[in-house]
Amino acid sequence: MIQTSSIISRAKQEGRKTLLEPEAKTVCAEYGIPVTKFKVAVSEDEAASFASEIGYPIVLKIVSPDVIHKSDAGGVMVNLKSPAEVSAAYQKILENVKKYKPDAQIAGILVQEMAPQSTEVIVGAIKDPQFGPTVMFGLGGIFVEILKDVSFRIAPLTADDAMDMITELKAYPLLKGYRNTPPADIDALVEILCSTSRLVMDNPEIKELDLNPVLAYEKGAKAVDARIILE
Ligand code: ADP
Ligand code: MG
Repeated sequence: MIQTSSIISRAKQEGRKTLLEPEAKTVCAEYGIPVTKFKVAVSEDEAASFASEIGYPIVLKIVSPDVIHKSDAGGVMVNLKSPAEVSAAYQKILENVKKYKPDAQIAGILVQEMAPQSTEVIVGAIKDPQFGPTVMFGLGGIFVEILKDVSFRIAPLTADDAMDMITELKAYPLLKGYRNTPPADIDALVEILCSTSRLVMDNPEIKELDLNPVLAYEKGAKAVDARIILE
């Protein structure tokens, strides 16, 4: 895959082990994983003009090789509804990040589509020292962090493997819908797991991949954050 190879080789040349979110999302998109629409702005005016192109509401995020956990740095602002809010958030993010890490190199501000709220799932991949690329699936928030309710399969995955990874979670009934939460599109999640498997099988330079969160809808699913770490 042409964009993926050039992104990975550029990162290597620059001595970076982490792909920036826009780079990671370009890689994901090339493998057919749905991601939020985005553009990288380098000025407040550019951010506002990208925002109107993409459509409100908007999310702004820091793009920096020195900031891996963007919210920890005050580097994520969601639900921006006007050019004035975008401009204010642009300044605020730069200010927050400068306070958090004064010497952080800043590549720009990511302007992206705000995905509607829904059930959050996590798709990941790691390289097991014995078994090689391994894909992970779980539900967002407490399910992964506290309950450790996750499933793993060694790549490459078949669609049946992916389906098993989803249905074996204790939290699976939540994905089938409950109270006023509609059922999630399981087929869309199966596709994302299989695409993730292809992505890591094709690119042995990838040490870790993290789509956290992926928003699961009644129809479709979309990664709103993507992190890729190289060997
Ligand atoms: P990080 O994990 O690096 O702190 P994220 O990109 O995951 O940053 O953003 C933090 C949170 O903000 C996400 O978990 C998600 O709840 C929300 N968020 C981020 N991007 C979007 C988006 N495009 N649409 C909707 N919500 C988003
Ligand atoms: Mg995240």
